[in-house]
Amino acid sequence: MAKAELMSYEKALEQFEVVIGLEVHVELNTNTKMFCGCANVFGNEPNTNVCPICLGLPGSLPAVNKRAIESSIAIGLALDCQIAPTGRFARKNYFYPDLAKNFQTSQYDEPIAFEGSLDVEVPSGKVYTVAIERAHMEEDAGKLTHMGGATGRIHGAEYSLVDYNRAGVPLVEIVTKPIYGAGDEAPELAAAYVRYIREIVKNLNVSDARMERGNVRCDANVSLRPHGQEKLGTRTETKNVNSLRSVERAVRYEIQRQAHILANGGTITQETRHWHEDKGSTSAGRPKSDADDYRYFPEPDLVPVQPSKELIESIRASLPEKPADRRKRLQAEWQFSDLEFRDVVNAGLLDQIADTVAAGAKPQAARKWWTGELARIANAEDKDIIELAISPTDVAELAGLVEGGKINDRL
Ligand code: ADP
Ligand code: MG
Ligand code: ZN
Repeated sequence: MAKAELMSYEKALEQFEVVIGLEVHVELNTNTKMFCGCANVFGNEPNTNVCPICLGLPGSLPAVNKRAIESSIAIGLALDCQIAPTGRFARKNYFYPDLAKNFQTSQYDEPIAFEGSLDVEVPSGKVYTVAIERAHMEEDAGKLTHMGGATGRIHGAEYSLVDYNRAGVPLVEIVTKPIYGAGDEAPELAAAYVRYIREIVKNLNVSDARMERGNVRCDANVSLRPHGQEKLGTRTETKNVNSLRSVERAVRYEIQRQAHILANGGTITQETRHWHEDKGSTSAGRPKSDADDYRYFPEPDLVPVQPSKELIESIRASLPEKPADRRKRLQAEWQFSDLEFRDVVNAGLLDQIADTVAAGAKPQAARKWWTGELARIANAEDKDIIELAISPTDVAELAGLVEGGKINDRL
């Protein structure tokens, strides 16, 4: 396929206003799946954590996982959402071999949480308030592996393998309202937002929050409109972007690609797109169907979720501090200067350093390792630093050895 032409980023922003919308899927770390008792674990032998319910065999009946509901409420409350006193599940009907039921059990018009907001600080220090439309519960699909082709994609493959271990794993999908006004910071805001969501679900202990495992995945919607135009432009939705750096790059790429098309009199097709990490570009997926096409209807096999006021209030009372408060506290505890602390946050190293300190390292030593040597290695290997095969515990141990004079600090 011919490479898309791009407008320079600066010129694109001169001509157009950027609007983004983010859908983040969070895989919950419940012991069992959303509607059955199968284990929810990553990396087991394919098709070993399956049963008649998550395989959709005739006559099987689902039951809702209580812990998944509590986790979803916790996420909703952490995002300042309202919690629905009652909410039905819905069937989203479509055929695809990664979900054997022929429909996905989801929530449609009655999400468990809605109308929230999250303040997100971007690297420049500016804070944007992102409006959250809803957070709803649904189940994950299985995993298809396309074999025999050069790219691992379905095109050119000879056959595909399916693993249903992930089918039925609980997900919460968090959807923002359209986000305006971030200007040239839109790509950074998108990445920072996903970073906050990761931090929130990790600190709530409702998800392992490992992006490289797909525990947190982002669909990034981007549209452009001429400055001053009221009507929103047509959006594209780049699916399953699974690192923070890719989120930022994918949004930036779509801005430049769409700007070139629009400036040359073309139109944007409403479609899903795939992000290619290696090429740093997106390619067309499928035309995006409207919700109507899925023939959503209320799930007849499940009673509505009706969390009691007491349950909601007890979850609220046990919420950890907000990301912004946590940042203030950690900076004070670690005695980092404003500059040191901002560097840590912007490099996405807050959790790494917190975990390293928790594992026994001194804060300044933890900071130096992560922002210095390890950041350098990640950069040289063109990776997200959290993808490096070194854990906070390793770093704490290393820092301990250096401090004890056993080794010096050059790798
Ligand atoms: P879908 O089912 O197509 O994924 P959702 O409502 O789940 O639709 O999510 C759409 C996302 O795109 C939301 O975050 C929404 O705010 C955002 N969005 C909607 N219209 C636009 C637009 N014109 N430009 C950018 N983002 C948009
Ligand atoms: Mg969606
Ligand atoms: Zn099962």
